[in-house]
Amino acid sequence: MKQPDKGINTKCTHDGELHEGTYKGAVAPLYMSTSYAYENVEVKRYPRYFNTPNQVALGEKLAALEGVEEAIIFSSGMAAISTALLAHLQKGDHVVIQPNIYGGTYNLVTQQFKRFGIEYTFAESHRVEDLEQAIKQHTKVMYVESPSNPLLDLTDLQAVASLCEKRGLLSMIDNTFASPVNQNPASLGIDLILHSATKYMGGHSDISAGVVAGSAAHMEPVMQMARSLGGNLSEYTVWLLERSLKTMGIRVRAQNENALKMASWLEQQDAVEQVYYPGLESHPDHKLAKAQMSGYGGMLSFRLAPGIDPSAFQEALQLVKPSMSLAGVESTLLQPSKTSHALLPAEEREKQGITDRLIRFSLGIEDFEDLKADLQSAFELQRKRPALT
Ligand SMILES: *Cc1c(COP(=O)(O)O)cnc(C)c1O
Repeated sequence: MKQPDKGINTKCTHDGELHEGTYKGAVAPLYMSTSYAYENVEVKRYPRYFNTPNQVALGEKLAALEGVEEAIIFSSGMAAISTALLAHLQKGDHVVIQPNIYGGTYNLVTQQFKRFGIEYTFAESHRVEDLEQAIKQHTKVMYVESPSNPLLDLTDLQAVASLCEKRGLLSMIDNTFASPVNQNPASLGIDLILHSATKYMGGHSDISAGVVAGSAAHMEPVMQMARSLGGNLSEYTVWLLERSLKTMGIRVRAQNENALKMASWLEQQDAVEQVYYPGLESHPDHKLAKAQMSGYGGMLSFRLAPGIDPSAFQEALQLVKPSMSLAGVESTLLQPSKTSHALLPAEEREKQGITDRLIRFSLGIEDFEDLKADLQSAFELQRKRPALT
């Protein structure tokens, strides 16, 4: 494994640079060709082979950011996740999955895997003891997500990696919420790292993309499957994503800072019953966060006090826009029970603590005082209304 040596911002800016020799422009040229003359019989460049000049350069940047040998860019996070899982699982195999995962991944597993003869078990919780309990004779892969959506639970990645090594399993993580700025799972021993690049990597709410990263040996089957499924990203968007990544380090650190300030402030508010943020001492996994993350991330959740109506609260906001998706430079929030987790059976939602008063908050890069003022006035408007319960 390549050890990360340079700082994150240097890697974001300079790794995987695609130099253009004739005019020596400051930014990478964009190669729109879908057809390339053979370099030799072995090297044939084609977008769906994931080896065009822009794809290769961006893959090098992403591999450097995660400290691994290889990375492939897909057209969405789900294209990356589904390709990686299907590449490493086949008929008769079993996969252990932590229960609180992204809804799209949950749907892929529960709606499609049976058709391919792939068995799965959702562990009782994201705790390593429960993940271990779920292992069977024919288990091949363990799939985790940390921090999780929407309650920011943390899975002990080093413990998962050593468990997988001991039991001969491939470990996979959805590292979207942390981004490579705050967490490098490969350095903790995790085999394959998945991202929805639609989130922090793109960062401006205008790109849909995904990433799979890992060692050359673990990426080989992923590349084979990727070429068959064909979920490559358009060259123009590859180029745009490269531009976005140059500022990922500074964006995410600004988002981390806003989230920590916001979490600490929300904890003091009467309108808020509970705050979930790994950077808070009150978070059950705060110690683990310190050990395995280099920043606590830009996502937090909070549960409104019983007297606050979630819909009216969201409508009262002026600056922070209630919306789907997350991780943009603009702050957004949503009510998971009505949006991101609406398709989850109500019973499962309750079990995971996703009640109607839970709000998921994605901090942007605005000035903290302005964000605070927006929430403060929305809480105050609520206080003037008659209490609901
Ligand atoms: C958004 C998201 C995905 C799916 O990514 P798309 O780009 O929407 O396909 C997967 N995992 C997590 C944690 C996400 O937030």
